Amino acid sequence: MIIIKSKREIRQMRDAGKLTAEALAMLRTHIAPGITTRELDELAFQFISKHGARPSFKGYHGFPASICASVNHEIVHGIPGSRVLKPGDVISVDLGVIYKGFQGDSAFTVGVGEVSPDVQSLIEATEAALYAGIEKARPGNRLGDVSAAIEEVAASRNYAVVREYVGHGIGRQMHEDPPIPNFGEPGQGPLLRTGMTMALEPMINMGDWQTKVMDDHWTVVTQDGSISAHFEHTIAITSNGPEILTRL
Ligand code: MG
Ligand code: MG
Repeated sequence: MIIIKSKREIRQMRDAGKLTAEALAMLRTHIAPGITTRELDELAFQFISKHGARPSFKGYHGFPASICASVNHEIVHGIPGSRVLKPGDVISVDLGVIYKGFQGDSAFTVGVGEVSPDVQSLIEATEAALYAGIEKARPGNRLGDVSAAIEEVAASRNYAVVREYVGHGIGRQMHEDPPIPNFGEPGQGPLLRTGMTMALEPMINMGDWQTKVMDDHWTVVTQDGSISAHFEHTIAITSNGPEILTRL
């Protein structure tokens, strides 16, 4: 069941979203050769705690950290650890907070130091795909319009969209209905209405779409070892169109 939020609830989600965005902006300034993903995780935990919120990922089905840090061919759900970032790496950071009962969820991908033009194009296309999806998140459209817009950006550049992991509704819970695939048919799926809140999150691979889960039971990687990128925003559908809650 899709939960429609009141104006008051959306105001509260704005606060959770803002804190999510601030935490990610802080982390972005620390991403550089030499830092470990565990250090990024510690910075995130301190920042979120200091602001009276909780990291929603920590303890979620046993996940051990406050952020997901997925490097290079890792797509999502990478566990922070002793890995040292080096020039040319690509890192995606995904972070969620619970603030006053509501959730924010957002992710970005960035090159560490200088990355190849191919990788930079993938990063830009994945962010463009997210914004193409957001643009379609309006009352009267259907969910398939969002999914198809995301897929179209990836397909037009010969990238593959990850199929087994998808976006989601969000509110008091991190994962609410509906699941939001990053591929689909325009005009299909649930009707979009004012008061829906959702996390759109394209995961796009330079190679094929197939994935596998590593032995840590969390880290999702591309089967073919190709580089992957991931961007996510929590948004609200308002009568004026989409409002991005996790953007500063
Ligand atoms: Mg996320
Ligand atoms: Mg999410």
